[in-house]
Amino acid sequence: MAPGSSTLKEVVETHLTSEDYSRPTVKPEVTTATTKVTSSLISKHGLSSTNGVNELLECPVCTSLMYPPIHQCPNGHTLCSSCKVKVHNCCPTCRYELGNIRCLALEKVAESLELPCSYQNMGCQDIFPYYGKLKHEQQCSFRPYTCPYAGSECSVTGDIPTLVSHLKDDHKVDMHHGCSFNHRYVKSNPQEVENATWMLTVFSCFGRQFCLHFEAFHLGTSPVYMAFLRFMGEENEAKMFSYTLEVGGYGRKLTWQGVPRSIRDSHKKVRDSQDGLIIQRSMALYFSAGDRRELKLRVTGQIWKEE
Ligand SMILES: [Zn+2]
Ligand SMILES: [Zn+2]
Ligand SMILES: [Zn+2]
Ligand SMILES: [Zn+2]
Repeated sequence: MAPGSSTLKEVVETHLTSEDYSRPTVKPEVTTATTKVTSSLISKHGLSSTNGVNELLECPVCTSLMYPPIHQCPNGHTLCSSCKVKVHNCCPTCRYELGNIRCLALEKVAESLELPCSYQNMGCQDIFPYYGKLKHEQQCSFRPYTCPYAGSECSVTGDIPTLVSHLKDDHKVDMHHGCSFNHRYVKSNPQEVENATWMLTVFSCFGRQFCLHFEAFHLGTSPVYMAFLRFMGEENEAKMFSYTLEVGGYGRKLTWQGVPRSIRDSHKKVRDSQDGLIIQRSMALYFSAGDRRELKLRVTGQIWKEE
């Protein structure tokens, strides 16, 4: 078994094997196998991003790449620094007391590496020096998006097609096709603004998806409704689009023209920056007519692409 195997189970087996080595009856072919692994590591000139070395740098507990400080137990089992805090000073591989031993050799190896971005399977082609990788991944445009559904603590992440299916199947979100829309929001007890009414509709146009959010909240002390659009993609693409929203009745009309925000910006961030159509509740109830006990708003809008 190769050193630095990726799962805990395998590593335990490795440990048992190394106990075998200490016995006088150790089989010659086992020793040969070990030598082969070592020499193939050395022969990898410059230690470029080869699978063998990457495996060595994989933490046996969490399987993430280990960044210095890399720790090891007195028997040489390595461990990442965030797992070290969690294992109560006990080596997860051999159960020896862990102590405070750094694995400087492996840290040196780590520093010399160039590694592909973790989102390679999502399409990122970039390769980074060991330390630049984490920083890039936080901003990588191929990193998964978080679910744009507001009002729930949804932890689903993925690419846009995954999230579109997820919104449709799991959140039962309305899906519409076309660049113009005419949407009716009805709420029977509009006095309860605290029960944040939030609604989401997804529009598909120009081959892309847009989230139309509508919700009630307090702006300072005044209850308001707000509608805004978010783009399911990156900020630089979002800027290529514009949209309008209109709401009105009885000869009065409120219009908003804006640029959709990327869903990289959280729903709350966009809302709190007031980057959308804001309707005071009294005005919303005026537009709703009737006896003011029901909110009935018709929001119309259009999305277009700036040339
Ligand atoms: Zn770990
Ligand atoms: Zn150990
Ligand atoms: Zn990347
Ligand atoms: Zn979700």
